[in-house]
Amino acid sequence: MEDTVFGKIVRGEIPAKVVYQDDDVMAFLDREPNNPGHTLVIPKKVAKNVFDIDEASFLTLMKIVRKIAPAVRDAVGATGVNILMNNEPEAGQTVFHAHVHIIPRFGNDKMKDFPPSKPVSTHTEEETEEIAERIRKNLA
Ligand code: AMP
Repeated sequence: MEDTVFGKIVRGEIPAKVVYQDDDVMAFLDREPNNPGHTLVIPKKVAKNVFDIDEASFLTLMKIVRKIAPAVRDAVGATGVNILMNNEPEAGQTVFHAHVHIIPRFGNDKMKDFPPSKPVSTHTEEETEEIAERIRKNLA
């Protein structure tokens, strides 16, 4: 597995504004925040993204995301948060060590068009049902 900047943060080789850590998880401020308080939560055990991380690590990660989200929100006086994970470059992943973004949101902030408010898909009812059926089969 490729070493990443987040691996270096976990090992203390480069600085970060760490706000939480335990044996399994670390959280630190994003150095290029979308909004004040933008926090990244990562597993210490290396995994590339949602397609690669083991179930126990992911559940532990999300448990801590739930714990941290209100602390982040209240620290910056936000009224909401977006919680998101980019997986693979096409989805915007640039650091290939799994991480969850907690992005505080304020009324009428610069992210007001996120997520897109209009449907981007033009699938017919039939195509939509085919997609749903393929997903069900993949899960069977
Ligand atoms: P993603 O596009 O989901 O892979 O997000 C990667 C995030 O990591 C971006 O929002 C970057 O601003 C952030 N980032 C990259 N390097 C660092 C660093 N050394 N310390 C804190 N955040 C970082």
